[in-house]
Order: sequence, then structure tokens, then C-alpha cells
Amino acid sequence: MALTDLAKRNPRSATATAVETAEPVGAMPMRSPSLRINDYYEVYASPDPQRVQEEAARCMNCGAAFCMPEGGYRANDGSAAGCPISNRIPEWNRFAEAGRWRDAYERLALTNNFPEFTARVCPAPCQDSCIVGIHDRPVGIKSIERAIIDRAFESGWVRPRTPQRRTGRRIAIVGSGPAGLAAADELNAAGHHVTVLERSDTPGGLLIYGIPTMKLNKAVVARRIALMEQSGISFETSCDVGHDIAAADLAAKHDATLVAVGALTGRDLYLPGRNLNGIIMAMPYLEAATRRNLHRTPLPEGLDAAGRDVVIIGGGDTGADCIATAIRQGAASVTNITRRVRPPSCRSDASPWPGPPATYTLDYAHAEGLAQHGEDPRRFGVSPIAFVSDGEDSNVSAMQIKNITPVATHTELLPAQLVILAIGFTGHDAPKLFEQLGLSSEGHSLANCNRGVFLAGDACRGPSLVVEAIADGRRAARQIDHHLASRPRRD
Ligand SMILES: Cc1cc2nc3c(=O)[nH]c(=O)nc-3n(C[C@H](O)[C@H](O)[C@H](O)COP(=O)(O)OP(=O)(O)OC[C@H]3O[C@@H](n4cnc5c(N)ncnc54)[C@H](O)[C@@H]3O)c2cc1C
Ligand code: SF4
Repeated sequence: MALTDLAKRNPRSATATAVETAEPVGAMPMRSPSLRINDYYEVYASPDPQRVQEEAARCMNCGAAFCMPEGGYRANDGSAAGCPISNRIPEWNRFAEAGRWRDAYERLALTNNFPEFTARVCPAPCQDSCIVGIHDRPVGIKSIERAIIDRAFESGWVRPRTPQRRTGRRIAIVGSGPAGLAAADELNAAGHHVTVLERSDTPGGLLIYGIPTMKLNKAVVARRIALMEQSGISFETSCDVGHDIAAADLAAKHDATLVAVGALTGRDLYLPGRNLNGIIMAMPYLEAATRRNLHRTPLPEGLDAAGRDVVIIGGGDTGADCIATAIRQGAASVTNITRRVRPPSCRSDASPWPGPPATYTLDYAHAEGLAQHGEDPRRFGVSPIAFVSDGEDSNVSAMQIKNITPVATHTELLPAQLVILAIGFTGHDAPKLFEQLGLSSEGHSLANCNRGVFLAGDACRGPSLVVEAIADGRRAARQIDHHLASRPRRD
């Protein structure tokens, strides 16, 4: 489907179906798990503006607001504490409370290029750091952000950021995930000519072919890309830099080049039986499911969970998205194994405020597993031992596992005709591009400024979050703008 056709689909239609809000007031309202597993519409319901205003009124407008640290700060484990893009949360809360939605939007747009993405998929580290949350339920910041950006789109306030004059400088951005898009948006608004080159057939990076449709409706992404095109940004898709064009040539033809190619190499698991059929990586599985929804292309046989017992290895977000996808495809059973111990129900001393609480929660996919099969699909403290075949053919038929906490026990076999590996990512998958630009694959967080080559997003920080990628793209744009200001023009 052409991007323009996709953009014509109403991004709000995804939430216009029957809505049953099961979540507490202030949290992002969600459709009932037992309803939503039957479709690929977004799992969220639209926030009720009245409730959003009440929620905004709970904000204490703290003098030192930990939800929006200037410059950001990190929890002990390196994860974000507070909003990584320093959204001016108490300020837009005041406006939302007063029903001054346009002012709220303008304040939000100052720091966040894509609130419609973060208001859907951000894990909201801001809420973990909310001071109200020390003694009570934190302010539902994400649902307020969602209400503001929904109102802004409905009211036509979100316009292309077309610059008044052009600088004549040309910038190439390789990779169109949130890091590349945020940098493109900022650099174009500053007047530079920006071209985004993308290997895939559709711009958006993991916003399109990683994060599943029920978490992020693809029409929402297409709507933003269309606005960016209208603002003067060029997108070249199906262009694998390093193969289709030489990266060094690209860099030579531009005043600056930003590499924002993500960290898309999935980590493998070399256990006995790894050569059996039916053991797949998470990314091709999720991508095929999205392609089927978007383009109506049939699912390849090996990437369909229908009727199969599915074991997903890895307890992170990617594993959760595989659970939700397998349930929708009609898996016979879905089990998610993770070595991690079951988290406590309250914050422990190991995860103090204002960092993430690291408590036991049901993500959307776990709630769906519970609704479908009567129990949380996760098994904590479990180690995979071997992939097993029943001996008749070369297909996997079971996963041998062992409980490792609280004490190691005997092994057991989980039936599995499909095993999905969702155990993280090891780094970028564009070695030729890195080689041609003379970038090392390790420790490349700093730009190679002399030659005008910069890095942003998962490609330099490792697998992270959409909001961190946006923060990185904005940072890289500032670096590039600064770099260009110190250089004479080519012509
Ligand atoms: C399954 C899954 C679910 C996730 N869910 C969430 C979530 O709910 N919330 C959240 O905050 N984060 C989530 N994340 C993480 C988030 O998607 C990433 O951190 C973010 O997309 C990184 O952005 P990026 O721009 O650095 O890279 P990416 O989004 O990975 O984009 C990189 C782009 O570069 C392109 N590219 C690579 N090499 C080349 C080349 N040589 N030439 C041209 N183009 C190239 C790729 O095709 C890709 O489109 C999820 C990740 C996964 C895998
Ligand atoms: S982008 Fe994420 S962290 Fe920042 S305010 Fe929105 S939900 Fe909170």
C-alpha cells in the first residue's frame, strides 16, 4: 500500500470500536483484553477529556519537578528517570486543567517532535518519577499527553514545520526510525535541505515494522511522515546505504550525514537442537505480522502461530509483543520464559524512587494472555536448556527448560511447535555502511565531526526506547547545526 493511502486511513478509527475501560482513572484507558485480542486495532481507548482535566489538576506543579529533569538523569541501572526529552509536564498540565488545549499543545511541541508516538508507546518514566507517586497514584501524564496531541490533530493545529528560508546546506540521514525522523524534523525546521534514506519500503523504522499495529496504528506514523514531506523533507525508501549507494559517496555529496540505523541484529541462542525447524527470531516474526496487516500479504508458513504451542524466550518488550501477536494469530498456547525472578509487588530498596519501580505489572500482552488462557503467560526464573524434536522429522516439538529460582529443579518439557527468540539485540546490522564511513562498531557514541558524520539512536546507545531515540535525534540535530555553523559553505 502506498504511504499516501495509508495516511488517508483515519488514525483515530483504531480507537473508535467498542470501548470498555478497565484501567483506573488517570492511567491510559485501555480496551478490554478479551475484546481486543480479536483484532489488531490499538489497545488504548481515547482518553475522556473531562477525566484528563481532573487528572491534570492532580499535578502539584512541583518546584523541582522530577518528571522533567533538565538534561535528564539516570537510575542506577542506566534507565531513564523522568522524561528523557524534558517535556515541560507541569506547564502543560496547568493548561490542560484549564482547558487551554492549544497552549498545552504548543508547550508540548517545544520539546517533543512526535507526541502521538510517545503518548502511545512510551513506558512513561516521567510517571515513575512523579512526586505525587511517592504516597499516591502518580499523575497520569501519558494520558494527558495523548489528550493534548489528539486535540491538536483534530483541531488542525499540527502543521508542517516549513522554514521561512533555506540555508543551502544538504544533510543526509540514513535510517528513518524515531531518531532519524526527529533529527530530520529539527534540521529541516532550521532551514537545511534534508534527505532521509531508508532501506525498507516504508519510512518509520521500528515504528512501522517492529512495534505491533495494536500498540501503534501505522496510519499514525504515515500521517506524521506526510506532514514532514509537506514541510520539505525528502524520503528515499528501498535504498540500502552501503549496498545500493556507497556511504562514502553519500557523505561526500552532503554537508553532514547522520547515521541512525538502529540496532537490529537479534541475539541468537545456541543451545542443542538450534538447527531444528520452527525456531525463529522475533523481528522477522513481528515484521511479517505487520506486513500482513498493512499490505494484506499472506503470512509465510513458518511465521504463523495459528494452532501451535508457542514458547517465547525473553521477558522484555519484544517478548511481550510476540505474546500479543501469537494470541491474535490463534496460537494453541503461549508461554513466555524468562530467567528473571518474579519482581516484587512493591518498590524494593534495589529500585528506589525516582527510577523505575521494577515491580510486578501486567503489560498489555500479559493481560491478554491472562484473559485468553486464564494465567499470566510468563514463567519467571526459568532457563532454556535445549530445543527438542520428537524424532520423526526435523521440526521442533518441545522446549526443555529448568526452573533456576528459588532453587534449581529437574528439567521439564514444554510443548512447542514454534519457538520465538526475543532475547535482545546485539547492535546494528549495517557493517558495510560503518566500514565505508570509517566508523568503528564499538563505542561510537561521539560524532566523527571532522568529516561531518554523526550518529544517533539505538545505533549508538544500543536498544532503547522511542523517547530516547527522539532525544538523541534532537541532540544530533543540534550537533550538526553547530558543526555547519562553524564551516564555510561549499558553493
Ligand atoms: C518489537 C519491539 C517493540 C518495541 N516497543 C517499544 C515500545 O513500546 N516503546 C518504546 O519506547 N520503544 C519500543 N521499542 C524500541 C524502539 O522501537 C527503538 O528504541 C527505536 O525505534 C529506535 O529508534 P532508531 O531511530 O534508533 O532506530 P530504528 O527504529 O531501528 O530505525 C532504524 C532504521 O534504519 C534503517 N536502516 C538500517 N540500515 C540501513 C541502511 N544501511 N540504509 C538505509 N536504512 C537503514 C532500518 O531499516 C530502520 O528503518 C521496541 C522495539 C522493538 C524491537
Ligand atoms: S514522552 Fe514519555 S517520559 Fe516524556 S512525558 Fe511523554 S510519556 Fe512521559
